[in-house]
Amino acid sequence: MYKEVVSFIHELYDTEETVPLHVPAFRGNEKKYLNECIDSTFVSSIGKFVDRFEEMMTEYTGASKAVVCVNGTNALHMALMLAGVKRDDVVLTQALTFIATCNAISYIGAHPVFIDVDKDTMGLSPVALEVWLIENTEIKGENCYNKHTGRRIKACVPMHTFGHPVHLDELVEVCNRFHINIVEDAAESLGSFYKGKHTGTFSKVGVLSFNGNKTITTGGGGMLLFQDEELGGFAKHITTQAKVPHRWEFVHDHIGYNYRMPNINAALGCAQLEQIGDILENKRQTAEKYKVYFEDNNDIKFFAEPINCHSNYWLNAVILKDKQSQQEFLKYTNDNGVMTRPIWELMNRLPMFKDCETDGLENTQWFADRVVNLPSSVR
Ligand SMILES: *Cc1c(COP(=O)(O)O)cnc(C)c1O
Repeated sequence: MYKEVVSFIHELYDTEETVPLHVPAFRGNEKKYLNECIDSTFVSSIGKFVDRFEEMMTEYTGASKAVVCVNGTNALHMALMLAGVKRDDVVLTQALTFIATCNAISYIGAHPVFIDVDKDTMGLSPVALEVWLIENTEIKGENCYNKHTGRRIKACVPMHTFGHPVHLDELVEVCNRFHINIVEDAAESLGSFYKGKHTGTFSKVGVLSFNGNKTITTGGGGMLLFQDEELGGFAKHITTQAKVPHRWEFVHDHIGYNYRMPNINAALGCAQLEQIGDILENKRQTAEKYKVYFEDNNDIKFFAEPINCHSNYWLNAVILKDKQSQQEFLKYTNDNGVMTRPIWELMNRLPMFKDCETDGLENTQWFADRVVNLPSSVR
């Protein structure tokens, strides 16, 4: 059976060679814009593509303000700071995520607590979150505290796994009730919509990534999305060394960060974002082909977008019967010219986070033992 899957994927990508998991496609103005940067000498921290990329992205996502960053990880770091997270605070998130989410929490000296995911989204469960909050916290004034440790719970970071949106309405309701700020890790979900609204725009701050393996790429890059324009303006200021604007003087009014994306990366981003419609359409067709192909398969199930959602199908995922089948499938496909991979090792199993508090993580564990990602590049 695995043999048939392998030949199906080779046919899908029309190749006998190894099919990669996710590679970028440059089919638009990428070279033209990069050449413009070089010809103009504006390759670094100043240039028209930075502003253009931010404007294009506010237009596309519907955010009030977008601020580019060097990568998604430092955009997350910045987002958590802007959400008011301080040393020794608690940040609630998923164990089923890429390491960047937890690294950013750690840069501030805050502590992640891992909450279970939902079976239909693979992302943070508002129900599990509410259960944990009711059992473990108390509200004092405008803040939520862990009753047992006394730590303040300042933020919650849901992650839209493989581009599938979490249950945002419910999550926003629970977090508002407990005075917790949401920072959406939308690194994987550019082009994913929840009830018609772009992911990353439901919270105080949302984060995108344009790493080489993401839906569009700037080489390396990230972005902050804001609803509050003033907060967005402040983000721009502190991601650019907090320099007070002046033609020749160098005065800074805040601890700043050199987190600004260079113009050459933004040039690539503009060219890529121009093609987002085609890219998403192409990825959707691939997802549809996988979906149809696995429809009659009792052992391998395709993971489809949650209801009320339009997913970007960044990385297609299938669910195997159990851990043993997952391991066998991974080995067979990788031995036979189809790159596949399991979901990330769960955060609470890594040495840095092994002592962090978790709820039962029942669904998280279930997915970890079964998920395999299939090749998902634009064809
Ligand atoms: C890609 C990714 C990021 C950001 O990664 P960078 O490589 O720093 O751009 C953050 N969170 C998740 C879940 C990701 O997949």
